[in-house]
Amino acid sequence: MEKVLFFDIDLDKLNGTLDSWGEPNFRAKQVWQGIYKKLKATPEEIQNIPKPLRTKLLEEFSFSYLKPEITLSSKDGETTKTLFRLPDNQSIETVLMSYTRRQTLCISTQSGCAMGCVFCATGQMGFRRNLSSGEIIEQVLFFARQIMVEGESLTNVVLMGMGEPFHNYDATMEAIDRLNHPDGLNLSARRFTISTVGLVPMIKRFTKEKRQINLAVSLHAIDDDLRSTMIPLNKKYPVEQLLNCCRDYVKTTRRRITFEWALINDVNDSIEQANKLGRRLRLFILDGAPLCHVNVIPLNPTQGYGGKATTRERAIAFKSELERLSIPCSIRIRRGIDIKAGCGQLADFVENK
Ligand code: SAH
Ligand code: SF4
Repeated sequence: MEKVLFFDIDLDKLNGTLDSWGEPNFRAKQVWQGIYKKLKATPEEIQNIPKPLRTKLLEEFSFSYLKPEITLSSKDGETTKTLFRLPDNQSIETVLMSYTRRQTLCISTQSGCAMGCVFCATGQMGFRRNLSSGEIIEQVLFFARQIMVEGESLTNVVLMGMGEPFHNYDATMEAIDRLNHPDGLNLSARRFTISTVGLVPMIKRFTKEKRQINLAVSLHAIDDDLRSTMIPLNKKYPVEQLLNCCRDYVKTTRRRITFEWALINDVNDSIEQANKLGRRLRLFILDGAPLCHVNVIPLNPTQGYGGKATTRERAIAFKSELERLSIPCSIRIRRGIDIKAGCGQLADFVENK
């Protein structure tokens, strides 16, 4: 039997456990701070707790489920990707991007993905399983420890690795809550960005919960016919339904929403499409949701999809058309392509060769 992963429990549960072991009530916080704040990798390194307790914690809990198997760094040295093996032999990937003094970590919420977007390597590999909250957390702690050695700390965490975070909603939110904890890593909700393919009921739930987490929605097309060929989920939650619930999100939370658009040559990168998107987002704004933004990114290559990235010129023209319609747009720089660490390129190494 696998031991319980320490990161799968919250501070209350730890309190209860240590209480049942006859420990004084300040101990749980000491242990918690040792692991989550001082970033110790095991209880053996927590100096201010008694030795027998360190041993007992090691007997009862696992302090690591993730085994780093392969780590690759891009030529420019700014992007590092690690493939972790899970106890049941599944795998996930996590990407650290270090540039302009920001340390952005891109984490996975599932092994594989059930959504099957045709242009995405994770979608192409299919669904393996949900990660537990602890497995999501451990990716963050692993890299937080690693960069601490270099005197750095994480500035942002994006849930844009493998998987659809809103298809594993509870574990994702529990993980973020635990990473927010003031006695722990204390990484505030505003530093997190969730990207969703557009699971409408979960966007509605997220809206009601009024969290401070940033939200990005992968739109990629404004016509249902085209979007459905790229994103099978569009048949269930078509564009208008999705945009209306995004509008309600902005109206209710007063937070900005980001729409993501991977520019694919001759598929969704024309001026006409930019114009259609821009006009629709003007309506979005007029409808009481003034805070929206478009992120375009030239498509990253994946093995199972023949589409090609747009050219730099067409990306600029797409952005200019949106801006002409007063819709803010940024062109995201592709990073880590040489190590297949770019958006949508994460998959099992073996299958990704
Ligand atoms: N499942 C979530 C988050 C993970 S994917 C989602 O789909 O939003 C993170 C982002 O990468 C999404 O915007 C997704 O549409 C985008 N993406 C997927 N494949 C891509 C590719 N080949 N090139 C560029 N972006 C891609
Ligand atoms: Fe899943 Fe997102 Fe990839 Fe679609 S783009 S298959 S939702 S990870």
